[in-house]
Amino acid sequence: MHDATTAELLAFDRHHLWHPYTSMRGPLPVFPVASASGVRIRLTDGRELIDGMSSWWAAIHGYSHPVLVAAMRDQAGTLAHVMFGGLTHEPAVALGRKLLAITPGPLTRIFFCDSGSVSVEVALKMALQYQHARGRPERRRLLTVRGGYHGDTFHAMSVCDPVTGMHTIFAGSLPRQLFAPRPQCRFDAPWDPADITPMADLLARHAGEVAAVILEPLVQGAGGMWFYHPRYLRELRALCDRHQVLLIFDEIATGFGRTGSLFACEQAAVVPDILCLGKALTGGCMTLAATLATDAVAETISAAEPGAFMHGPTFMANPLACRVALASVELLLDSPWQERIRAMQEQMQRELAPAAGLAWVRDVRVLGGIGVIEMRTPVDMARLQQFFVQRGVWIRPFGHLLYLMPPYIIRPDELTRLTSALVAAAEQTRGGEGSCDAKP
Ligand SMILES: *Cc1c(COP(=O)(O)O)cnc(C)c1O
Repeated sequence: MHDATTAELLAFDRHHLWHPYTSMRGPLPVFPVASASGVRIRLTDGRELIDGMSSWWAAIHGYSHPVLVAAMRDQAGTLAHVMFGGLTHEPAVALGRKLLAITPGPLTRIFFCDSGSVSVEVALKMALQYQHARGRPERRRLLTVRGGYHGDTFHAMSVCDPVTGMHTIFAGSLPRQLFAPRPQCRFDAPWDPADITPMADLLARHAGEVAAVILEPLVQGAGGMWFYHPRYLRELRALCDRHQVLLIFDEIATGFGRTGSLFACEQAAVVPDILCLGKALTGGCMTLAATLATDAVAETISAAEPGAFMHGPTFMANPLACRVALASVELLLDSPWQERIRAMQEQMQRELAPAAGLAWVRDVRVLGGIGVIEMRTPVDMARLQQFFVQRGVWIRPFGHLLYLMPPYIIRPDELTRLTSALVAAAEQTRGGEGSCDAKP
């Protein structure tokens, strides 16, 4: 099936390249990609896969979009990179302007960084420096909810779900944070005031040592694809204000339209003190993230010792990444993205519904451009990966979850290919299967 070159490529890859969350001993099979355009990923053997993952939720416009390719080409010939220490440039300023125009008003100060995990580190550092500046250095701990995912670096790991968070081996080296239960009240159910009680109790007991609450608004992504009630966020905002604790929203997965609003926090009409963006920020073309903060947070940090915010990555505000991010955001805003997300939601609701009748399916849920079939037992990812590729789709299940997060440009007939593959996988996955990689 593979020619000699592909066989060599795969052999080198198998022996020398780590893939996300894999062993170098018995590595899971990987599929060699030659190119990708629109919603299609082309393998080196010529097979085409319809993409249901948007490359970990980033490639919202699909692949090789001519506008994004042109932006990168153009910028590469002018200024691919220059240090941000002591220098600035138009791509960073133009992207900054655009982000201020589309994010909630009080967020006015932007820190550009390299990846989602780093933007979470930056947000947590800001919270600690803020409390220090207020003369409350004892407020060092973080409070979050179970079922969260915030990245793979050390402080980000410490606020991931302690059980499914994939990092139990590091537990002894991580700061011990405070965890409230995962919000239980479903996104579309009537609000249950009891849902916020454990969080309220924890804050009342520990506010004196807590710098900030961090969580993913509305949708918990890699921690379980769970959708919860927007009212939870409103109650939490009031609690944080009462206890003078900062509120950090990690919208790395939810930002840029995925839940049906440009940012998930809009559906709760809540503004955080600090906001993390990443993933779809560049339309999946380059690695870039941003941490936005309010004037109050930035001014407080800046007015106190040591008189600076203590972070500054080498590739901060990389011009190539900023330029393609600006092009991606403009492309999104110029597109009928709300209609596309609404249509995707309705179609997934309709076409995934049959899976809800299976005894070994625990739940089927859809919100915006996210469709989920939750099984009662963990799925066998390696086997299902083969199954999906044979059906001409790219879907990567994890844990108990089969899910879709397609590019926004997908056509209804292409989406049907994805939903029917997902339902077929659920039908023939009776449960009792082995475990699999924890990472989506
Ligand atoms: C993916 C993700 C991160 C980590 O981003 P990386 O770019 O992989 O470091 C953090 N938070 C959330 C909610 C994410 O989905």
